[in-house]
Amino acid sequence: MMSRWTCGRCGFVAWTRDRSEMREVTGSHLIAHHSDALSTSDFRVSWDCPYCATAKTAYDTDGAVAEFEAHLHDHVTDRVADGVHVADHVDWNGVVRVDASAVGDEADALRAHFHGAAGLVVAVTPTPERLVRALDERLSAWPRRTVIVSTGEYDFEATPDVDFAGVDVEIVELDPRLSPDDVGETVSRILDANHEPGERVSLEVSVFGQIVAAFDVERAVAFVRMLAARLVDAGGVLQLYVDADADRNVATVLNFLDETIDLTVAVDDDRFVRRS
Ligand SMILES: [Zn+2]
Ligand SMILES: [Zn+2]
Repeated sequence: MMSRWTCGRCGFVAWTRDRSEMREVTGSHLIAHHSDALSTSDFRVSWDCPYCATAKTAYDTDGAVAEFEAHLHDHVTDRVADGVHVADHVDWNGVVRVDASAVGDEADALRAHFHGAAGLVVAVTPTPERLVRALDERLSAWPRRTVIVSTGEYDFEATPDVDFAGVDVEIVELDPRLSPDDVGETVSRILDANHEPGERVSLEVSVFGQIVAAFDVERAVAFVRMLAARLVDAGGVLQLYVDADADRNVATVLNFLDETIDLTVAVDDDRFVRRS
């Protein structure tokens, strides 16, 4: 679980591992809203708090900015909530777009955050060994059941240190030439066969870029909508890992999915932010 701060002036939301890390997020964000409260004259920097009567003047610019940021943070500490999950933002039911590479490890902290809070995990990924390693290293316990759908053969030699004893994980190998409909049907069958009533589902789709590249915009859009509708019955969160900057077609498809996507999150190490 994490700490969360919601900016009262815009749609920005930040999640950090704990409350102490939030200090680095709030001040730098709030100072952008209050840039007119900071002024320079006669080699000196002054700030005038918009929330209270505090005002300071100093010669050291960096020091003055840091002090103002820390001061602004103190005004919003009561808006920081502890023990929350990113999925709470969508009541554990909806589609979360994750702006991060689908095949790299930059978003592994977010993957582990979602998968670790679910009973059933279904992950469609081109890099199954990386995902297994990430979950094994980051989670104190594996989910009740994990099904990894991969477009390649699982290389057990790549994860010799992972002890699968007592871990309920299945690797499903997919023909890489399969269409989005085939992938959707496979995921749907996995949900049918494995979901227990009332159990949270975490569905990771890290093959969206490949689907967009191999098929037309319409089919890629339909694929996500179908999975989203399928998850509504089960109750869970679909995470769509996308690098919109890497492919113009991905950006086009995402525009069509605007109504379907409930939350967009960017990843900065172990810190996550919603951009508005
Ligand atoms: Zn804001
Ligand atoms: Zn103040």
